[in-house]
Amino acid sequence: MPAHVIDGAALARDTYGRLKERTASLGRSNVRPGLAAVLVGDNPASRIYVRNKMRACNEVGVHNEEHLLDAGATPETLLATLDKLNRDPRVHGILVQLPLPAHLDPELVAKAIAPEKDVDGLSWVNLGALVSGRPVFEPCTPRGVVAMLDHAGISIDGREAVVVGRSAIVGKPMALMLMARGATVTVCHSRTPDLGQHTRRADILVAATGRPRLITADMVKVGAAVIDVGINRVEGKGITGDVDFAPVREVAGWITPVPGGVGPMTVAMLLANTVQAAERTLRA
Ligand code: NAD
Repeated sequence: MPAHVIDGAALARDTYGRLKERTASLGRSNVRPGLAAVLVGDNPASRIYVRNKMRACNEVGVHNEEHLLDAGATPETLLATLDKLNRDPRVHGILVQLPLPAHLDPELVAKAIAPEKDVDGLSWVNLGALVSGRPVFEPCTPRGVVAMLDHAGISIDGREAVVVGRSAIVGKPMALMLMARGATVTVCHSRTPDLGQHTRRADILVAATGRPRLITADMVKVGAAVIDVGINRVEGKGITGDVDFAPVREVAGWITPVPGGVGPMTVAMLLANTVQAAERTLRA
């Protein structure tokens, strides 16, 4: 029987419904959650991502503002923008759309955003908090993956999980979050010899490499949950993931599509973190 497809777009819509209730409740305390997006340069894909995030904010009642800096912006200009947003009480969450132009070091951002506004969960403080087992904001993509596993009723505790990819944005926090939930986690990457030897052990397989169709059916255990984080633009084929969807679906127990899987859940988790940041100001 083909794998059950976990519909990330539908789950994101459900999440929006619950977030709308929370923004309405915050409104009764005169708080409107606010998200500021900083975009440097005019990368067309980044523009689309930011526009989608702003649209989602409007849907759930989150104030949103875009700060566009030109491609040649200096580190000082970027830091000054972040400093202003750190101090702006209307802004509960700050997002810097990656990638940055080559002359700007993403570590600048990781150090400069106030941890209590770092709704992407990528600042040094928040990644450190995640490592220590006391997360402040969980990074949006891995948080979305865990939400999808939970929604599908896939148990994590005691299972074998394999994460392919070791970036600070996806692979590493994903591994930590699965470990925190009781999985035995293996992290594979571009230097791993014989990837399939690892992936075939996985009850939960998360692919986050940016390599179209890297994960083929022979690399997947029968009945596994296969989560495809990859977003790859392939000439003439539109967007595909890291998983060879149709053949893998015949082997896996659960699978996420691309598009319509992890992507929409990443945006939903960004909004969830922003609403959570606003709720925390009431308790401060
Ligand atoms: P990255 O380039 O920073 O990291 C890629 C990782 O994959 C590296 O750790 C590398 O070692 C590993 N890798 C590359 N080739 C490999 C191979 N042949 N075998 C095993 N491992 C290999 O990328 P990233 O930022 O982690 O993103 C990964 C993918 O996820 C990209 O396609 C990106 O567009 C996508 N992404 C999607 C979302 C979403 O919301 N769905 C969010 C973030 C990233």
